[in-house]
Amino acid sequence: MAIRFYNTLSHGLEDFLPVDPPKVYIYNCGPTVYDFAHIGNFRAFVFADLLRRFLEFAEHDVQQVMNITDVGHMTEDQLADGGGQDKMHVAVERVKTAKKSGKLPDNAVTDPSDPYQVARYYAGAFVDDAKLLGLKIADEAADHMPRATDHIPAMQDLIGKLIENDHAYLAADGAVYYSVQSFPDYGRLSGNTLERLRAGAGGRVQGEHQAVKRHPADFLLWKPDPHHLMKWDSPWGAGYPGWHIECSAMAMKLLGRSTIDIHTGGEDNIFPHHECEIAQSTAATGQPFARFWMHTRFLLVDGQKMSKSKGNFYTVREILAGKLTGSPVDPRVLRYELLKAHYRSNLNLSAKSIEESAIQVQRLRVTAGALRKKLAALDAPAAVEVDPAHPALAAFAEALSDDLNIGGALGVVFDWLGRHDREGPAQALAVIERLDSVLAVLDSDTEQGGEGDATAKCRAIDAARDAKDFETADRLRDELRDAGYVVLNTASGTVVERRLTSPS
Ligand code: AMP
Ligand code: ZN
Repeated sequence: MAIRFYNTLSHGLEDFLPVDPPKVYIYNCGPTVYDFAHIGNFRAFVFADLLRRFLEFAEHDVQQVMNITDVGHMTEDQLADGGGQDKMHVAVERVKTAKKSGKLPDNAVTDPSDPYQVARYYAGAFVDDAKLLGLKIADEAADHMPRATDHIPAMQDLIGKLIENDHAYLAADGAVYYSVQSFPDYGRLSGNTLERLRAGAGGRVQGEHQAVKRHPADFLLWKPDPHHLMKWDSPWGAGYPGWHIECSAMAMKLLGRSTIDIHTGGEDNIFPHHECEIAQSTAATGQPFARFWMHTRFLLVDGQKMSKSKGNFYTVREILAGKLTGSPVDPRVLRYELLKAHYRSNLNLSAKSIEESAIQVQRLRVTAGALRKKLAALDAPAAVEVDPAHPALAAFAEALSDDLNIGGALGVVFDWLGRHDREGPAQALAVIERLDSVLAVLDSDTEQGGEGDATAKCRAIDAARDAKDFETADRLRDELRDAGYVVLNTASGTVVERRLTSPS
């Protein structure tokens, strides 16, 4: 099966052949942990997980690293060399205020003026959200989700190398900058030229340090600042690294190679972040950095760009709690919602669209539940091997191998679902579970009070009914209704759906 992906670097579809098959080395730009991640961020992360799961489905051995940015990000990060205020400073002030007004959970952050505690708090919240949404990376060893603050020496080594080979210089303001003129390919990813960037390129290079730089697009590698909240000793004075250098350093260090297969991020990462990553990494090693650059388009809410000022800005927690829909949303329904549109088209999130996702997810769950029940009644083993050449699995893989054509792949899933009863239940269940190794929507392993708890109650209702204990069955049904579920009596037993609009 030939796999092809759209490569931002070549602006076209290319056959995907890993450097060292069956291994595939992937680096994803991860969250900045100065606040709770929003659903736009999670579109990029769910895409990264879909890519990984598909490559595993296609029998690749994926090595994935997603960083956690806890230093280096500035409020004006759209500028080539960053600028504005340290985002961690903003976070510390916000957490201090939240703590004072009792809005933080007890013990979440004991000392809100400690930036490390604040970063740890938001990083923990991110990992919790990522687990709820079924991101495999969140269950892996910590070195697959490296924190920038744990890898400062690797960044300093890289900066040292760049100074040594004249790709970086110490400027009159004491900071270390990358010299874009030293790298002829600068601009290739984003389609910028040094002339356009010199002319200002839409305000993207008008930072605060123009007077000391050799070219306006030169970007920061190390900033000495004795007053910075987080700072480290260095040959260039105590200070902190630029945002771009951290991803180059962690990608090469933790994936253990100069050339990786795929680097991902949202479309806003193309310039300056990824352009700068390519320049630094390639100049330091003399090798190409990432062979494929894949970028997700933005998520829209009700047709509009999500922004705080429009009031259509949602965190994962807010969506799950029902802020957009009026009642709680199952985390895997949100996952399905975030992955169901092609990654290179805008995804338009709305209550109606989430409701449609809930119905699709429910169809898959009801079918899997019915098959499991049938197999249990037959006393048949629940797991069988399924031939990867099975027509539904082969067609699903073929759709995804065409630049992750998720629409085509979901079409295959629901076509097959409509006629799955032509197959034996054991094989049908095996097919559905194999498809779910990529979709990851069948089970929602939320903690107590969540979906797992509701499923357990459904089974208890069925058992009570079988034992003719209708009083218990009715009590459990009422408890589920009170918790926001619609309780359905189906041929395969009791199932629940999240009620998506408030009961009026
Ligand atoms: P940040 O935490 O701001 O560095 O963003 C983390 C990731 O989310 C980056 O890869 C961004 O490109 C991506 N991202 C940010 N906003 C959106 C959005 N509205 N839709 C899709 N991806 C986004
Ligand atoms: Zn990055």
